[in-house]
Amino acid sequence: MKAIMEIRGNDTLGALRTFLRTMLEKGVVDALLVPQVVPSGDNVVQTLVRDPEHMETTDPISPVIPVQSATLVANLTGNMPIGENIPRLRLGAVLKSCEIRALIELTKLKQANLDDVVIIGIDCLGTYEVRDYAALTGEGVSLTAEALAAARQGLVVPHGGYQFRAACQMCEFPTPANADIAIGLIGVQNGILLDVKDELAEKLGLSPDAEPAGRAAAVEKLVADRIARRDAVISEFRQRVVDMPSLLAEFSRCIRCYNCMVACPICYCKQCLFQGPTFDHDSDVYYRRAGRQGIIRMPTDTLLFHLTRMNHMVTSCVGCGLCTSACPSQLPVGTIFRAVGQKVQALFDYQPGRRLDEELPLATFREDELTDLGEG
Ligand code: SF4
Ligand code: SF4
Ligand code: SF4
Repeated sequence: MKAIMEIRGNDTLGALRTFLRTMLEKGVVDALLVPQVVPSGDNVVQTLVRDPEHMETTDPISPVIPVQSATLVANLTGNMPIGENIPRLRLGAVLKSCEIRALIELTKLKQANLDDVVIIGIDCLGTYEVRDYAALTGEGVSLTAEALAAARQGLVVPHGGYQFRAACQMCEFPTPANADIAIGLIGVQNGILLDVKDELAEKLGLSPDAEPAGRAAAVEKLVADRIARRDAVISEFRQRVVDMPSLLAEFSRCIRCYNCMVACPICYCKQCLFQGPTFDHDSDVYYRRAGRQGIIRMPTDTLLFHLTRMNHMVTSCVGCGLCTSACPSQLPVGTIFRAVGQKVQALFDYQPGRRLDEELPLATFREDELTDLGEG
């Protein structure tokens, strides 16, 4: 059901805080995973709130994403202890679209459990790198207020002289799908648009309204611009990377620090192949390799690391770009994974995070699949 939440005194953030607070007070959820401004004011991090009194510094709109919250929801739900005396708590998770899509993938991968989760999706107004967010807020810019003012006019644009993260510039999913409660801001001039599952709408005492005129067109234009940007970036990548040497060159600055893997919501293995004895070689292995080839790059196995990671998870890559943001060598890891992911996902007609009941390509065997590769 669609409803418009009224806001007083142009205070959209205040209205959202009250809405979330009411969810806790009415027992619609027992806890909320919600972004909160840190005491220094220069970052916003997810917090787990059970006491409604702690809603005053929440900022669900903040245009920054220091961590992929799908991983946090997986941590909170994927391994629930079972026992008579352990209460089942209902979690409300405030998430951006890429976080919801990653969460759906993690649920299919049996790393998260959505049974007791209310997904509260919110229009994403783009996100800055953490350092840019800190720099701008340090100068006294209120990025949330700025983003909200633009969104009301149907625009999602960065602060002058700055850019959103590379992944956000080409993200074609600014609005949340598969949410129990979807909060709409783009192209909504008065109030906040809520799209709420009927049973929750009743609990929250909402009555139906029409979607504001102009929202659909604003979202459509934003998505079209993002798709154009995505296609241009991926096309440029495909012209640049055409064979193994050019792929190797792409990763030439990689120091195999594993940051991209740690930041990635889909890389969930507790024990990674690369952090075990298989790649922890004795020194003579390096000397022998160098002896054979005359010279070897150190650290070794960088391309193998990326190809292995890709092989494991690229069908589920949601293009959130947290890997790029985490890379100290400023490698466009997310763009590379998106470019490869686009091809592989198309091959299986699979879109990660689209539907919970859509089977994971790599976990499904179909006899009629990839027949042109011949019989193995
Ligand atoms: S990738 Fe999309 S949903 Fe995720 S933070 Fe960027 S714009 Fe938002
Ligand atoms: S590979 Fe990068 S873009 Fe893809 S899901 Fe992982 S962190 Fe996000
Ligand atoms: S974060 Fe960057 S440098 Fe570190 S392993 Fe990933 S691509 Fe390599």
